[in-house]
Amino acid sequence: MNILTFDIEEWFHILDNESTKTLHQWKNYEVRIHENMERIFSILEKHNQKATFYCLGWIAETYPEVIRDIIERGYEIGSHTTMHQLVYEQNPEEFRKDVDRSIKTLEDISGQKIKYFRAPGFSIKEENKWAFEILLELGIEVDSSIFPAARSHGGFPSYKSAKPSIIKYNGLDIKELPINYTLILGKPMIFSGGGYFRLMPYSILKYLTENTGYIMGYLHPRDFDSNQPIIKELSLTRRFKSYVGLKSATIKLEKWLSDFEFMDIGTAINKIDWENVPIIEL
Ligand SMILES: [Zn+2]
Repeated sequence: MNILTFDIEEWFHILDNESTKTLHQWKNYEVRIHENMERIFSILEKHNQKATFYCLGWIAETYPEVIRDIIERGYEIGSHTTMHQLVYEQNPEEFRKDVDRSIKTLEDISGQKIKYFRAPGFSIKEENKWAFEILLELGIEVDSSIFPAARSHGGFPSYKSAKPSIIKYNGLDIKELPINYTLILGKPMIFSGGGYFRLMPYSILKYLTENTGYIMGYLHPRDFDSNQPIIKELSLTRRFKSYVGLKSATIKLEKWLSDFEFMDIGTAINKIDWENVPIIEL
C-alpha cells in the first residue's frame, strides 16, 4: 500500500531555525504558495492521482482560496496545526488551542469534518505523547505524526512499527499511519518524503518502493520550487537538506506516480484490516 500526502505550508515554514519561527518573521518573506500549489495540482491531475493534504490553519486563514481550490479539485484535507510550531515545545493547552483553531478554520472553509492530523516536523515523541489524548478529544481519528526513527527534531525511535498500527494510550485508541522506513544494516532509513526524497536517485527510490510493503509519501509545496529564495540563516546541514534536489523533484515524483499505485488516506483506512494491525501501547 502506497499513500500520497502533502503538508500544505509556505516555503519559509522551516523548523529549528530562528529566522522562520514567528508570524512577525513570516511577513518578511514573499508569497509562493499559489504557484507552488498549481505545480502540485498539475502533476496530480496529469496522473489522475488522489492525495491527502495536511493543511496549516495559518494558510487557511491567510489564503482561504488555497483550501477551497484543494476541495473543489476533489482532494481530502487534514490538519497540520495552525502555527507550525514543534509540539514538544508547546504545553498541552497551547497544543489544544492551536490544533482546535486549525480544525475549526478548515471545517468552516471546506464544509468537511477534519479527521486526519500530522504534527509539524513529526514532533510528537516519547516525552509529549499526551498529544494523542488531545487529538482524540478534538475528533481526530487517524494520526500520521509518528516518525519511527531518530531525527534532528521529533522522531519516535521507540515506536516499533513502520506500518499502519493502532496506538493505545491511557485507555484510548487512535489509528496511526506512520512514516515508513527500510532497514539498512539494521538502521532505519527514511526515503519517502522531504529532503530524503529529493536527495535519493530515482533508481534507488524505485528499488526501495518495490521492496517495502507500505509507503507513506510526505511532500511539501517547497519540495518542487527550485526558484525559492535561500534563507541565509540556515545552518549548512539545514541548507543542504532544504535545497538539494529541488530541480529534479518534479520529474522524480512523476516517475514515482507512473511506476506505482498511490492512494489517499481515506482510501487507505478503508482498505486496511484494522483487526490485524500491530497494537502499540504507549
Ligand atoms: Zn510542516
